[in-house]
Amino acid sequence: MISEICKALVLSLWIAIKRPGAAAVDITNRCNLRCKHCYWWEQGHPQELDDRDMVQLFRRLKTQGMRAAILYGGEPALRLDVCRAATEIFDGVLVFTNGTLGLPELGSGQWIVSLDGSKEVNDKIRGQGVFDSAVESIKRAPIPPIVHMTISRLNAACLEDFVREMLELPIKGMGFSFFTPIRGLDQQDLIIPIEERKGVVKRLLALREKYGERVGFTRAMARQVLADGSFSSWNSYERCPVSKGLQCYRADGTRKLCTYGDDADCSQCGCAAVAVYRGALYPPNYETMRLILGLTSPGFLPKR
Ligand code: SF4
Ligand code: SF4
Repeated sequence: MISEICKALVLSLWIAIKRPGAAAVDITNRCNLRCKHCYWWEQGHPQELDDRDMVQLFRRLKTQGMRAAILYGGEPALRLDVCRAATEIFDGVLVFTNGTLGLPELGSGQWIVSLDGSKEVNDKIRGQGVFDSAVESIKRAPIPPIVHMTISRLNAACLEDFVREMLELPIKGMGFSFFTPIRGLDQQDLIIPIEERKGVVKRLLALREKYGERVGFTRAMARQVLADGSFSSWNSYERCPVSKGLQCYRADGTRKLCTYGDDADCSQCGCAAVAVYRGALYPPNYETMRLILGLTSPGFLPKR
């Protein structure tokens, strides 16, 4: 327990440093799905770096002080060798995947599988057959993955059923973001306005109460995403801690402002990374630090 606490404190001090300490890289400009809420399909898709240049980018980022990397796509599992190379360079690597291409061994890296509801709801958002395929991958995974849900108007109603169903699978835990819109697009069918988040947040906290730490949403995180909490303290690009702590890159190695792209609507941000970061530190919160520990250490298992 003592070493857990020490590690959580070290991690928190590390993420508290106000210069970028982690990189978020779109390692591919390809994806085998076309999800309804996908911000990535709304962006340009420059030519991706080849394997050698992508690995060189990783090495340069490490030299510049980036200790951790989050790999996105498109679909990162289309470039498994690149994912594995990242795990040999960075101290911690998270890889977001749609789960349809399997979840093979990833060294010290941690798979995060995006699923957005029970079978029927998920497949309306992500495509026919995606739920079954991802669940099959989860069952076969050598290391338990984390499941991440983007909560939107399309799936909020099935939250409880989905969480219950996922926690019966061999997963490490679950994370939750609220859908973040793109400026200039009409996405009213997806957006849960800030004023209406409270009901969903209460349900998430009740699920954590019922099922324990594997529901990765703490009270400290809840404060960060609510209009009558701390949301107004950070919901602009200038004040967003993720924009300061994370350097984001497109698949061609050029910088972008945010993982959600240059046109993400910060005024309605639902990013779990901000909620986790601020929840852990403003003010310091051990429960949320443990959650970060779970994310960054594949061997760390949350309490049930
Ligand atoms: S799997 Fe990810 S990148 Fe591919 S379409 Fe879905 S949300 Fe977009
Ligand atoms: S969309 Fe969210 S995570 Fe991205 S820069 Fe804006 S506030 Fe930060």
